[in-house]
Formats: sequence, C-alpha cells, structure tokens
Amino acid sequence: MTEPVANVEQISGPQPQSGFSGTDIPAYDDYAHCVHCGLCLNQCPTYKLWGLEADSPRGRIRQIVLVDQGRLPLGDSFVKHIDRCLDCRACETACPSGVEYGKLVESARAQIEQNYRRPFFSRLSRDFVFRGLLPHPQRIAALARLLCFYQRSGLQSFARATGILRLLGLADREKLLPPIDRKFFFSQLGTTYPALGPRRARVALFAGCVAQVSFSALHEATIRVLTANGCEVVVPARQVCCGALAAHAGVRDVARSLARINLDVFLADEFDAVVTNAAGCGSTLKEYEHLFPPGTLEHGKARDFRKKMRDVTEFLAELGLSANLSAQPMRVTYQDSCHLLHGQKIREAPRKLLRAIPGLELVEMNMADYCCGSAGSYNITETQASLALLAEKMKHARATHAPVIVTANPGCLLQMRAGAEIYATGQEVVHVMELLDRALAKANS
Ligand code: SF4
Ligand code: SF4
Repeated sequence: MTEPVANVEQISGPQPQSGFSGTDIPAYDDYAHCVHCGLCLNQCPTYKLWGLEADSPRGRIRQIVLVDQGRLPLGDSFVKHIDRCLDCRACETACPSGVEYGKLVESARAQIEQNYRRPFFSRLSRDFVFRGLLPHPQRIAALARLLCFYQRSGLQSFARATGILRLLGLADREKLLPPIDRKFFFSQLGTTYPALGPRRARVALFAGCVAQVSFSALHEATIRVLTANGCEVVVPARQVCCGALAAHAGVRDVARSLARINLDVFLADEFDAVVTNAAGCGSTLKEYEHLFPPGTLEHGKARDFRKKMRDVTEFLAELGLSANLSAQPMRVTYQDSCHLLHGQKIREAPRKLLRAIPGLELVEMNMADYCCGSAGSYNITETQASLALLAEKMKHARATHAPVIVTANPGCLLQMRAGAEIYATGQEVVHVMELLDRALAKANS
C-alpha cells in the first residue's frame, strides 16, 4: 500500500522554488546519500504500523527532497508524515549508505516550525511546552507541585474512577504522566559527592529538566553507583534542560539557547566526563554540533563537549566496576533505548554492566531494538500510535518470562511501566543504575 509520495511526482511547474526558507534547511549533502534501496523500511516502526511508503524513512526523505525542489507543498500532508516519525533513528542503523536521518527529520521539523501555521490549539500547547515551560526550571517545579497535589490528594483516583478523563479524551495520556517526586532534585544542584575510596575519576552529572521532578531517586542511585566506583560526582548548579524535546520538535532556537548555557556550564570546569542516565538527553548533548554552523565559536565548544559527554552505562563500562556487588538472583530482559542504540550506537555497555551483577540472568527480548513508543513527547502527540507500539513491545517483554525489564532511559521507563500496568504483566521496570544500586546496597549491608 502506498500513498501521496507517488502522486507528488506529478506535481510540477515552471522553475519551481524550494518550499524551504529561513534557517535549518535540510542539507542536500545529507539527503543525497539516500539511494532509495529500501533496506531501512522493515526497521521502521511507523512503516510496520501503517504499511505506507509516506510513513517510511525512504518516503519521508523523498518528501523532503520534493519540498526542497518545490514539487511538493510544505502543507498538511508533509507535516502529517514528518510529525508521525518517532525520530527513533532505527533507519540510521539499518542504512548502508550512512544517511543521517535524524539530522534530516529535525531540519524538516525546523522548517515546519518556521513556515507552516499549525492549528491554534497545537500552536498554543507547543509554545507553552517548548518556550514557556521546559527552559524554565522554576516553572517546571511549579507545575510539578500542582501535578503532585493531583496525584497524591485523591483527585487522580477520583478522576479515573468517575470516567471524566475518558469524557475529556485524556484517559490514555493521563496514564502516561510521570509520578511526581515529593522532593525535587533541583535542591541538589551545586552539590559535590566525594568518591568512596581512592578517586578514579571526576565527573559532572547532567540532571535534565523533567527528570529533576520525577526521577530524583534514579539520580540518587546513579550518584551512589558512581561514587562507590571511585568517582567524584559534581552536579553543576546552573545547568538547564538539554533541549532534546525542543530540537526534536523543530524548535531549534530554544534548543540553541539551552545548548549555549549548558556548554558554558559544563566546559567551565575540568571533568573527566560529563555523564547522563537519560539516553534521549545524551544523544542531543553529544550532537550539539548539529545546532551550530561549522566555524562558529559554539560549534567548537560543542565539539570539545562531545569528547567529554558519556552515557553513564558507557562511562562505567569503560572505567570498569570496582565496587563489590551482591548476588541478585533474578531473570531480567533489556529494552534498548533508541537514542542509546541508534542515536549513540551503544549496545553492549548496559548489557556488560548487567552481566557483571552476580546471579543475574539476562535474557534477550525479541525486537529489543524496536521503539517502545515513548519517543520524547510522541506518546502525548501521537498517543494511539504510541500505544500500538507499546502493545507490541509488551507482547515481546512478556514472552521472556522475565519479572524485571531493564532499560537505560527515563522516557522508556515511564512508557514500559505504563505498559506493564495496562497489560497487567506484573513486571517491574527499572534503570540499569537502579539494579546496580540494589546490588551495592546488599553488598554493603
Ligand atoms: S536504507 Fe538508507 S539509502 Fe536505503 S532507502 Fe533507507 S535511507 Fe535511503
Ligand atoms: S526515525 Fe524511526 S520512525 Fe522515523 S523514519 Fe526512521 S525508523 Fe521510521
């Protein structure tokens, strides 16, 4: 089954002008590598879901080319197919020609942001999230307090029981809300945690934005694991959101402003590495260079920063675990995070750390490298597609008979926890750092 892409070939006119203008135009050098071989198609979750060429990597690249050539309008159809991409980058891993699809789709989204007028409510919500909320830690904290009240006061149970959420069309999205912490990680910005025993490395922890109000426990576990393995951990005070969600949505001016702040903060001190426990953030942090033109001061800083930036699993696997770990006799399965596997090309490091835990049995899940449907804010903007991918994922997770699912990204954790609840699989979903932390705690008790 195919759709508009074939038809748009018929659109032509005298001396067509590019449909792209402004900044962040998809580069000819990037899309010209695509030889239309189609080897990426079967790795693409949205192509598998709908079977449409227009929702495949090859089809989307073709649409980008046609808009660039002025042969397809930058209109509703183009926006629909580009919006429906997860930006999971599985196609990049599959592509033998080395097409950097992530760069292309993010530029296409930047063009949509600049040259397409979305419906009123969509504009309002995007402005609120990407410009009004994520760059402002105080506002994130204020909204989190409201959500915390909703979740802990009984309002949430009431709203769920009465069916009002279903009436408002919010029932599915509400299930995906992160549980809000009682105490936010913001209070720990500016703290330094000394290494236990001889210092082997000095690292900075990237703490993120939403993670600071809903994954404080994960950050604390990460710090315990790092310090127990001889790392001094600094949590720099002025750090801000990495800008990944804004960059993925095409709101590149905001992503650039955030990147400038983080580059200044993390390059101001001497660290052996800057580490993150969020693969989605890590992928963008490592690619800050894409946000700035070559030859600019920021591009140079981004290049220096990339050399320091590590996913925490990558860093620890390289450094080697030195702390004692107790036996954790359990069967676990690992779900690859797209932005760790496809974005950062890290497959082995988290598995190596899991295998280092005595007694732990790691069983591979079928299609572990296939997106769970979280994909940044995709589960909010394209909820039905996200839930369809989650259903498939939970089928494979259940088939492993592992009571514990492990992953390396907070977004995947939330999505898979929602999946375990929706499909009543009874599985616990944890981060690699949380399992290592458990093994440490027992070893030291
Ligand atoms: S695998 Fe690469 S070259 Fe082949 S169609 Fe997909 S993006 Fe193009
Ligand atoms: S990024 Fe993912 S969803 Fe988008 S085209 Fe590539 S494989 Fe498909």
